[in-house]
Amino acid sequence: MKKLPPACSGHPALFGTTEDAKGIVRCGLCPHRCRLAPGELGLCRVRRNQAGTLVAETYRHPVAEHADPISMLPFGWFLPGSSAYRVGTFGCNLACEFCLEDQLSRSSYPAGYDAPEIPPEDIVENALRFGCDSIAYAMNEPTIFIEYVMEIATAARREGLKNVLVSNGYILSRPRQMLYPLMDAVNISIKGFSEEFYSSICGGHLQPVLDSCEYCRKNGIHLEVTDLLIPRYNDSGKMIGGFLDWVAERLGRDTPVHFTAYHPAGGFTAPPTTVDSVMSAANAATLRGFTRVATNTEMPEPACPAIQKPSCGAA
Ligand code: SF4
Repeated sequence: MKKLPPACSGHPALFGTTEDAKGIVRCGLCPHRCRLAPGELGLCRVRRNQAGTLVAETYRHPVAEHADPISMLPFGWFLPGSSAYRVGTFGCNLACEFCLEDQLSRSSYPAGYDAPEIPPEDIVENALRFGCDSIAYAMNEPTIFIEYVMEIATAARREGLKNVLVSNGYILSRPRQMLYPLMDAVNISIKGFSEEFYSSICGGHLQPVLDSCEYCRKNGIHLEVTDLLIPRYNDSGKMIGGFLDWVAERLGRDTPVHFTAYHPAGGFTAPPTTVDSVMSAANAATLRGFTRVATNTEMPEPACPAIQKPSCGAA
């Protein structure tokens, strides 16, 4: 664990428990269950043991917010054609070597960070001003700023806005049960359908991610899943087939499935994903009977009517 000078003052975080008289604190937000000595930051870089209390440095400290087409998140079958107001902070609770948002996910708040707090009502007001229909917790991993997400989501609902979560799904059961019911739609990124891939490349485990997907399905929360294809790492027919078979069996063939292309990022040197690879995965889904399949917008117009680009909107 890192020991750095405190950044923002830090707001008491949920899911922290004191373990002993020396002020050791355990964080119960995600499956890492970090055990933190006073002054230490968790693996996510934004939850800290501050003098024996777990605090969230992300609380009311967004580092980015702006409006985007909801198709970019991506959602293809939820409020198609609408705009979403994105909010993000620093940090992430996975350590994917290929991360496309590494400037946010691998950063933490600088020591002495004293930017003004942005209350939830201001985020909601900005979303309305930009004509958005939803607020999207969708830049870095929103699980790690759960306290702020829950406050914004509650304020957003009061104003008639929807809430959408774009997440790695790496969260423990109790926080999931508090966070997900506030969401109208969730997109979970399944990084690769193998425990070995998660443990060696992502710094986590696959099963909690699958549990999050099943939670959405069982509780009637609109769910879309995304598979970022990385050549030679997670794009084998076996891995894609295993992923699709699991989705078909546990979530249903009507689950929207997105296949997206990887570009070298964060020092990861795998070559970019080819168009053929993305289209081949999408075709494998349609051959299995999936009815809502999407490829990212850089792909050519799909020949099969069951395959869409999210920007096309959806039926
Ligand atoms: S949320 Fe952060 S501090 Fe908490 S267990 Fe996960 S990585 Fe550790």
